[in-house]
Amino acid sequence: MSEKNPLNADLPDFETICAHFGEDPARYQGAVVPPIYQNSLFTYPNCAAWNSPGGLEGEPYNYTRVSNPTTEIAEAKIAAMESGDRARCFGSGMAAISSAILSSVKSGDHVVAPKTIYGPTKQFLTTYLPRFGVEATFIDGCDPQEWDDSRRSTTSLFYLETPSSYVFKQQDLQAVAGIAKRHGIVTACDNSWASPLFQSPLRLGIDLSIHSATKYLGGHSDIVAGVVIGSESRMKRLVLDEGLLLGGILDPFAAWLLLRGLRTLPIRMEQHQRTARLLSRALSEHSAVGSVYYPGMDADPQAVLTAKQLRGTSGLMSIALHNQTREAACRVVDSLKNFAIGCSWGGFESLAIPCDVPAEHIDGSEGTRWLIRLHIGLESPNALWADLEVALAKA
Ligand SMILES: *Cc1c(COP(=O)(O)O)cnc(C)c1O
Repeated sequence: MSEKNPLNADLPDFETICAHFGEDPARYQGAVVPPIYQNSLFTYPNCAAWNSPGGLEGEPYNYTRVSNPTTEIAEAKIAAMESGDRARCFGSGMAAISSAILSSVKSGDHVVAPKTIYGPTKQFLTTYLPRFGVEATFIDGCDPQEWDDSRRSTTSLFYLETPSSYVFKQQDLQAVAGIAKRHGIVTACDNSWASPLFQSPLRLGIDLSIHSATKYLGGHSDIVAGVVIGSESRMKRLVLDEGLLLGGILDPFAAWLLLRGLRTLPIRMEQHQRTARLLSRALSEHSAVGSVYYPGMDADPQAVLTAKQLRGTSGLMSIALHNQTREAACRVVDSLKNFAIGCSWGGFESLAIPCDVPAEHIDGSEGTRWLIRLHIGLESPNALWADLEVALAKA
């Protein structure tokens, strides 16, 4: 018998969900790994068996843009891990994010979001949606009062990303969801950094949780994928409208690789967390390092919120050198041997990238700051630290 899930007594624990939930080997000849249903359509023995549109809610499969048995297994597992009724996979994190936002706005509406959200998400809100008469206001977002103050009569969506990109600032999920509920505003949260293991936005009152499954859920840097999770009523509309009409589905082969990634998600996250915590401590004590931006560190400026809404911390952080020039950041990054230079994260491999971040995202001042973003992979902590020590001497 599996252990009970501490978050939901009706579900098995996370490890069992990742390994077995949503699977039925009897349906596929007892195969322990579900097959890839790599087909666009499903056919029928006669016209009476054909149903149109079909393919949803227990109806016979019809067409892979509607539903696919391999993808559905990944959706069942991720919905269970996020404590949602239903999940829908998309062909990328951005397809998931744009679909979730589009499902929550109409012409004339207004969106509030933190200024530190993922760049392309911000671009979607600032340059794409205005074409359809949707406006956005960007705030620091750490203080729930700011959300209330930025609200207009036309605000239909509070969009959150916590911890946010590059500087990992957190928003209080429960408090922001509470304000939204009082005013009939939808809430959506990009939960990619924490993964479903370490943060449960839906349990804190958020309506839609979103992941770039390219990152930790996939975990092997071999797929681009996204997923949205929410209640049955909200997800039903999102699947029929943004899912089927915009059509940004996840390919069944990528869904099968996502399933392979999910099998090891709990042990990978533990290892990312353990090594990242060790390195964040060592980095914050290093003479060349001015600041470490990572919710798991000892001097976490939002420790109370971290304790309230995060069950763990993942492997993505940024550091600011005392010497905050592009040249110093590049010298350090170019000296690293065990960190590849690359912009994504969430895979098995350690990555480093110099990044210029508006200073207002950090402390409200002007200009830009050069940071180094580090993804702490699954390599040995000793090897990673030895590498960082040598590289930091070049700062
Ligand atoms: C990478 C990323 C995304 C976008 O995901 P894709 O799969 O690349 O489309 C969204 N949000 C965050 C926080 C990300 O880091």
